[in-house]
Amino acid sequence: MSEKSLLASLEHCPCGRDHDRAQPLLDFAPGAMTRLPETLRRAGLPDRLRVVADGNGLAACPELLDILRAGGFSWEMTRFDDVRGAKIEDARRVLTESKKNAALLAVGTGSLHDLCRYAAFETKKPLALLATAPSMDGFASTVAPIFRDGFKDTLPGASPRCVVAPPEVLSAAPLALRAAGFGDIVGKVTALFDWHVARLAAGEYHCPRVEALTRDAYAKTTALAQGVRAGTPEAMAALMEALTLSGLCIQASGLSRPASGGEHHMAHYWEIRATNEGDTPPFHGLCVGAATPVLIEHYKRFAAGPCPEIRIPSFSAEQLRDHYGRLYPHVRRENTPDPLRGIDPARLRTGWPDIQTLAAALPDPAQLRALLRAAGAPDTPQALGLPDGWVEDALRYACYIRSRLTLLRLTQQQETTNS
Ligand SMILES: [Zn+2]
Ligand SMILES: [Zn+2]
Repeated sequence: MSEKSLLASLEHCPCGRDHDRAQPLLDFAPGAMTRLPETLRRAGLPDRLRVVADGNGLAACPELLDILRAGGFSWEMTRFDDVRGAKIEDARRVLTESKKNAALLAVGTGSLHDLCRYAAFETKKPLALLATAPSMDGFASTVAPIFRDGFKDTLPGASPRCVVAPPEVLSAAPLALRAAGFGDIVGKVTALFDWHVARLAAGEYHCPRVEALTRDAYAKTTALAQGVRAGTPEAMAALMEALTLSGLCIQASGLSRPASGGEHHMAHYWEIRATNEGDTPPFHGLCVGAATPVLIEHYKRFAAGPCPEIRIPSFSAEQLRDHYGRLYPHVRRENTPDPLRGIDPARLRTGWPDIQTLAAALPDPAQLRALLRAAGAPDTPQALGLPDGWVEDALRYACYIRSRLTLLRLTQQQETTNS
């Protein structure tokens, strides 16, 4: 079990903020499964649990219930067949059923944990996570992305008391889930870029040390591509640590900025659209990974040109209503007030050369695609199986899904201005 603080460098941060450096107890080392009862006790969990799992999670750790029983725990179970995409109905079911129990133990991958983080936040009960795949970066985050009325909302979530991820369990996870965690980290490179755009265009708060931690997670992860594909226990533990660190950076900065930019808006757009068309969307991290090289190409091309003019309102309500249909009320809410109101045009003009330099320094899209392939992740939206036209649509409309200033959003500004 590791006791090291992943956020140690944020003590006395020069950005001036007193960062929340709280960290769950982490166990990503071999034998973590047999230590589970001890870890739960050390994390302060009482011995009457609500175990929340789906069939895949239970199949991934068949010895779980024996280990809990031998460790002196009793439990009731909320069992789903297969959680793909966290839905509010499922989150409410966990909330209601866990009211009878003293604490929650979530067993599974990203979406299942999202349900439990939401329920634990609402019930204020202690939460422990047993991860069965390194599939996304939200394990230790304080928000839970949950589908409500077909729209993916960011709801508050409790941070867990402990995160246990036995590497031998992660190694046996399907390649698509291992590669999804890899893809989610690949997207940090454009998220960090967009954070700088917001700083340069609108004077948004930015922390260089939080950025450095996220860059470190990115660098360590991209070095793991072959190990992720092969599922080596060492690569699984390192990927899990990078994913946890990324989630903790959200908590430490109080912002999703270090973890999510235009690439996440494209991924959310595809996930929402597939869900609303009655399909099961690809795993979140795979969407993020495949979106990132596309977005980098788009950013490099756009930033090579002149500084965009800003117009308020920055969008056509009529076009958004036509495109989003029944989801338009959500989109309108995200765009009220207009997120480009915060831009000072003079500041943007002054900052544009820096944005151009940062865009030129983004990784080569071809190299990033090769890395995704090496990790076993789809390297393009086509390889992900998305229909023709969804890439262009995401580049055009995904930026309106969140109330965030990104370069993706500014690229629309230019097109609106020119037409
Ligand atoms: Zn700071
Ligand atoms: Zn993500």
